[in-house]
Amino acid sequence: MKSFKQIFKEAENKITGIAAAPGIVISKVYLFTKEKLDINDSEILDIEIAIQNFDEALSKSKKELDKIFAIAKEKMDKTRAAIFEAQLMILDDPILIENIKNRVRKEKRQPEYIVNDEISKYQHLMIVAHEQYMNERANDIEDIKNRIIRNLQKKRWQSRITNDLIVVSDSLTPADTILLSRCNVKGFVTDHGGLTSHAAIVSRSLDIPAVVGTHNATKKIKDGDVIIVDGFHGYVIINPTDEQLEFFKTKVDHLAELQKSLKELKDQPAETKDGKEITLLANVDVTGEIDLVITNGAKGIGLYRTEQILEEHGEFPSESEQIKIYTNLATRIYPSPLTIRAFDIGGDKFKFLSFTEPNPFLGLRGIRLLLENEKLFKTQIRAVLQSSVHKNILFMLPMVTTISEIKKSMSIISACKEELRAEKIPFDRNIKIGIMIEVPSAAVMTFELATYTDFISIGTNDLIQYLMAVDRGNDLVSDLYQEFHPSVIRTLHHIIKESARANKTVSICGEMAADTLAIPLLIGMGLPILSLSPTTIPYAKRIIRSISYQKAKTLADECLACSTEKEITEKLERFFTENSITRTRNII
Ligand code: PEP
Ligand code: MG
Repeated sequence: MKSFKQIFKEAENKITGIAAAPGIVISKVYLFTKEKLDINDSEILDIEIAIQNFDEALSKSKKELDKIFAIAKEKMDKTRAAIFEAQLMILDDPILIENIKNRVRKEKRQPEYIVNDEISKYQHLMIVAHEQYMNERANDIEDIKNRIIRNLQKKRWQSRITNDLIVVSDSLTPADTILLSRCNVKGFVTDHGGLTSHAAIVSRSLDIPAVVGTHNATKKIKDGDVIIVDGFHGYVIINPTDEQLEFFKTKVDHLAELQKSLKELKDQPAETKDGKEITLLANVDVTGEIDLVITNGAKGIGLYRTEQILEEHGEFPSESEQIKIYTNLATRIYPSPLTIRAFDIGGDKFKFLSFTEPNPFLGLRGIRLLLENEKLFKTQIRAVLQSSVHKNILFMLPMVTTISEIKKSMSIISACKEELRAEKIPFDRNIKIGIMIEVPSAAVMTFELATYTDFISIGTNDLIQYLMAVDRGNDLVSDLYQEFHPSVIRTLHHIIKESARANKTVSICGEMAADTLAIPLLIGMGLPILSLSPTTIPYAKRIIRSISYQKAKTLADECLACSTEKEITEKLERFFTENSITRTRNII
């Protein structure tokens, strides 16, 4: 059989976009075009009737959204469904509504014109913010604006969609995505939108393969065409040839088989052939992933990146909002552990500072920023403590560089505990506090740092970037971002050994843990816990179950003696062939 590259290199019927939700589907297209609303800006004769129409349109929009919100809550995670709650809040915003009514009275113009003008002003502010997140939210507001206008014009959302089709559209609002998913939509393709667009997030939550940001899908694809959506690579094939069809059908079958066999592993232990048990935990970026954590058989959450909440909310959630989020996760995962990492803001993550730092990765990031903003840090600590009543929460500090940062953090945590005690609010008095080791200075000083904390988690994503002096997101130097560089694996070995010497639990939560090639090496170096993205857990388990711990130890010793990255990768690859282990994750 020809390879993917051979078949698709010159294919003219292929368009590319962003792989937004994994999976492969082949089906007919439903081209979803939203009619453009014409705005009537004529003068009105009867102000009171216009106001009454506006009130009716508002209440109808509210009813529609209530219904969508109810479906969303049923189909998705609560935090995701909150998109619609936010839209409902706009409909209830007294200032906006009064403003619109006052303008209708004063200007004597059609409410639809004023609604369009007023809400567009909000959108404009969001678009000029030049931030991906705000741009996406402007798109959500478009939805609510059009809904009110459509109801003022007394038009209905017409859907001709039948079951089992792939929806191709210019863009999709969260409400569209939810409503369309009720028709058993097989996949989504859009011209616009990025990975963080709600259509993408909703597709991932609903497990519907999606390719977004194709620029021209709606121009190239016609209603009724058959297309293939490859949500792993971000490809769409239009009216595939027999050869392409055969290739993808084989892939779909293969995938189904693989998923079935991986599912069978769910309840099997992650144990090597010679009986060494490894704990597999999950990294969670968005709360919606919790279902995957459970279905993929993780033994708990090893890293919950709370800064992701800020990306979603666009601002800092209050103490009570945070309590809700953390308690929900802790309860759903109970009795397994939930490791909450303090907001890791700065670097390339959530923009917090009003000014730009010359070197954000070396600047006010992680724990440094939190210690500078004690109020914010305390809000999070208080929320984490109050969510810890069931004793399955651990708290972890990011980007630690020195002992003094740990001491300062511990004293803030103690102060928060004292406050809660005085307020008679219950919390886990023995909550475990750990640190991430992702800065070389902390790696060197692991033993000393470990004596001040309860556990250590290695963040290889940053550790490699700081050790090799390569920006983890810069293509120009990506060749130097070497997870198998001898300096990296010797540093990992040092951290593992020193944590054990300090009698502290050590785990890894960087992406390296999900690289199937790295797993025998990590285990051989003595790592007892790996935390990785939920979908990669079954793949890791399969590798662990097919190796011998003794052989992995010998492999690690050999790799630790190497002096180049090439020698190490060759040894690892040889280990896989000699032991006849297939790296299943590469199949897709
Ligand atoms: C890491 O640096 O390895 C890590 C897990 O943290 P993040 O990727 O969130 O920076
Ligand atoms: Mg990091």
